[in-house]
Amino acid sequence: YAAKAGGDSRRRYAPELDDEAGEAARLGAAMRIALDTGQFRLVYQPIVSLPDGRRVSVEALIRWEHPERGFVSPADFIPVAEQNGLIVELGAWVLRTACAQAVVWRATLGDRAPERMGVNVSARQLAEPGFPELVAAVLARTGLEPQRLTLEITETAVFGGGRAVQAVKDLRELGVRIALDDFGTGHSSLGLLQTVPVDVLKVDKSFVDDITLAGREAVIATALIQVSHGLGLTAVAEGVETAEQATELHRLGYRLAQGYHFGRPVAEPDFLASPTTVAV
Ligand code: C2E
Ligand code: MG
Ligand code: MG
Ligand code: MG
Repeated sequence: YAAKAGGDSRRRYAPELDDEAGEAARLGAAMRIALDTGQFRLVYQPIVSLPDGRRVSVEALIRWEHPERGFVSPADFIPVAEQNGLIVELGAWVLRTACAQAVVWRATLGDRAPERMGVNVSARQLAEPGFPELVAAVLARTGLEPQRLTLEITETAVFGGGRAVQAVKDLRELGVRIALDDFGTGHSSLGLLQTVPVDVLKVDKSFVDDITLAGREAVIATALIQVSHGLGLTAVAEGVETAEQATELHRLGYRLAQGYHFGRPVAEPDFLASPTTVAV
């Protein structure tokens, strides 16, 4: 280590860091091109009511098919977009596309359309000045009613207060619903509920995975449904993969769930073609 020998930490030999930074820069440049050439698209995953399996809501999830790299996971490129700021433009595209889609479904499916559209919003987007105004403008332009939009934010995005919390308040003022995504995995899950007004808790998949084993996860999932109901919030169980999990969640009091068991995220034609009620 050069740091040990020379004491200059800036010149420490760390090829893995160089590679990471280089890869992030390459990915960032590729994303810029992807935005300009339309390589991004959205897929849609149903959120269903228990126990009847009716599709009440839907979450939009971004997909990127790079011409040479192939499928790139949002778990890999969203953090890069947050770093280089491209998330602001990308996020605005997601918002416009998802809201426009929701309006089209209402027009074509009527009452059989999902009642709500969920859109993921990253920390950087939420903290960006003018974000609530952007949402208001997209709603006005697409004609989507505010109560039909749920913005999914993470605990980290509102941890520490500041502009992000004000943005949440402004958005709710518009009539938009706010969901805390991956709930229970952040730094201050329960504490946040005292200061940040939200409508929905999306209980993280990690509490759902072993729910049928009657261990710690089941205890936490039970506590979280009680907190939700006690505070007048809606709870959604994430990452439900089996019928057994669905049954157990319903027994614990969950009325909404999402996961591969009910439907994977699919492109719009497949979503349109899939049944509006699934077997639970
Ligand atoms: P998330 O918002 O918590 O979305 C749920 C993720 O879990 C999605 O992964 C979804 O495909 C996956 N999933 C759903 N049901 C199941 C299941 O039963 N089992 C398993 N194993 N996985 C399930 P995806 O699409 O890869 O997205 C990963 C994350 O990337 C999202 O987590 C979200 O944080 C972020 N993301 C995706 N799309 C967007 C977007 O448009 N904007 C922003 N800012 N972030 C996005
Ligand atoms: Mg989400
Ligand atoms: Mg989630
Ligand atoms: Mg998640």
